[in-house]
Amino acid sequence: MRSIRVFLVIATLATLVLVVFVAAVQGYRSSMAEAESLFDSQLQELAQFAVNLRGDHPISNGQPIHIAYQLWQPQADGSATLLARSSNASSTALVELTPGFGYANFAGYRWRTYVHLVEQDNLIAVAAARTDVRFQLAENVILEAILPVVIGLPLSGLLIWLIVGKGLGPLRELAARLREKEYRDLSPVTLATQPRELDQVLNSVNGLLTRLNDAFEREKRFASDAAHELRTPISVLKLQLHNLEQQHPDHSEELRQLHDGIQRMQHLVEQILALYRSAPEQFSASFRPVNLHNLAASVIAEMYAEFETRGQSIELLGDTDAASVTVEGDPFALQTLLANLLANANKYTPAGGHILVEVAAAAGAVIVRVEDNGPGIAGQDRERIFERFHRVSGDRHDSGQPGCGLGLAIVKNIAELHQAHIEVTHSRFASGACFSVTFPALSNSSSPASLPKRDNTGNLS
Ligand code: ADP
Repeated sequence: MRSIRVFLVIATLATLVLVVFVAAVQGYRSSMAEAESLFDSQLQELAQFAVNLRGDHPISNGQPIHIAYQLWQPQADGSATLLARSSNASSTALVELTPGFGYANFAGYRWRTYVHLVEQDNLIAVAAARTDVRFQLAENVILEAILPVVIGLPLSGLLIWLIVGKGLGPLRELAARLREKEYRDLSPVTLATQPRELDQVLNSVNGLLTRLNDAFEREKRFASDAAHELRTPISVLKLQLHNLEQQHPDHSEELRQLHDGIQRMQHLVEQILALYRSAPEQFSASFRPVNLHNLAASVIAEMYAEFETRGQSIELLGDTDAASVTVEGDPFALQTLLANLLANANKYTPAGGHILVEVAAAAGAVIVRVEDNGPGIAGQDRERIFERFHRVSGDRHDSGQPGCGLGLAIVKNIAELHQAHIEVTHSRFASGACFSVTFPALSNSSSPASLPKRDNTGNLS
């Protein structure tokens, strides 16, 4: 069944046609019975009328062609003499002259006959009426009863179509509510008016959403709990490694590799925790005005040694006017966002490269750009790099740089929490990537009281 609406309209119309048909057949039969008895009494009247014609009009011409009569006088020898007849009746008896109703065929038609015996006058009147006229009348009665219904069928179809459409409204509303749902929104679906028939569907859908929500929560908690639990053994490992390095300076190469491995593990654990904490449903924001230029300067200062180690130049450009580059945000989260973008620029730009950070005021917005002259990011990868654990060309990155593919997912989470938009383009250098994050300017952004709030499902509103 492709469409419930089409099915209901066709089924209702078919039922209507069937009911009308049965009613018409029944009506036809009762109309026929009515017509029969009406015509039969007319036939009797005609026979009585014929009795009065004796001698006056031996052959009458004036009668309608669908009736005929004969007037006979029975004789002592058993024969009968014709006294009068209509012009369409022959001179021989139309039927056997025994009283009562019967049928006869003459003049090319079938006739209903009535033989009337008048004993005191010794007369027999035969009256006949064409049966096709009777049927015609009954058919006309039926046709007149059915015709309005047949003509009204398209209108009924249209009305049923509209009524069924209205009745299916709650189904459409349910579909729209499910379609409009954000992918993170697992809150129960409610309808403006909820018909009883949809109770089961809604209960099942809402039950499924609740179970999914619980499962996602458990999965997220598991990852963050696991990462949290791993922190202590990793610290212990690092301490023991440090002791080993002191005791076995001759194994410095092997121990250095072990150190790198533990370092990477620690980075991964910290990234998983940062991702969990920057998820909208976990993020505990402390929004206040933040001067992005000053924040960028302090992050660069903190990371300066890493750029220096790789012989990279780093420059901070843009507006220093505090009012125009201030946004409403969480300083710690914004610092993480800038640090992740700068760490990537530092990792993926070859030694001796250039990195540019710009904080600029635009109409109603503050834009932070982090650009480099590294390998850049091809068009087809520009969306996917924000997915969790996605690294261009997989685990073994072309650059040989270690990473776990979570840095940009964290950046994206933080940007969303600040109602900021992030995009990747080609940098202003001959090669390289440019990450631009566009924040609503302080005057444009919501007041702290109306900043993203979490509803009871943990989603931001
Ligand atoms: P990670 O750096 O740990 O792999 P990210 O989520 O920070 O994870 O980055 C995802 C991927 O995006 C990286 O693996 C890298 O391929 C690409 N990428 C990020 N920043 C840059 C950049 N500045 N230049 C080139 N590629 C980049």
